[in-house]
Amino acid sequence: MFEGVKAEASSSQSISSQASDGSFHISPPSVSSFKREVASKKIRAASSARRLNIAAFKCPLESCGSTFTARHNLTNHINSHNKYRPHRCLCGLSFTTQGVLNRHKKRCSK
Ligand SMILES: [Zn+2]
Ligand SMILES: [Zn+2]
Repeated sequence: MFEGVKAEASSSQSISSQASDGSFHISPPSVSSFKREVASKKIRAASSARRLNIAAFKCPLESCGSTFTARHNLTNHINSHNKYRPHRCLCGLSFTTQGVLNRHKKRCSK
């Protein structure tokens, strides 16, 4: 009588432990999803590199600091600044900034 109850309890315990083992299941990551992740990282890196190129052309006027994606945009912008060129070389050419004038002076023979 007593032994029978014990056996019943032990058998039910073993069944419950088996069920918990069955529920413990780890699904391995699929190869296709991993490849997709790597591709997206590459695309992200390429887009960030493109973002760096956006500021490739910068206005030489330090007080302005405008940046441009294309050279002709910067040229048009500089033309708008050209009315004001306080930095003058001995040869008669004038420049918007001291830095640009110093660069010119290295080439200028006068
Ligand atoms: Zn500017
Ligand atoms: Zn000069």
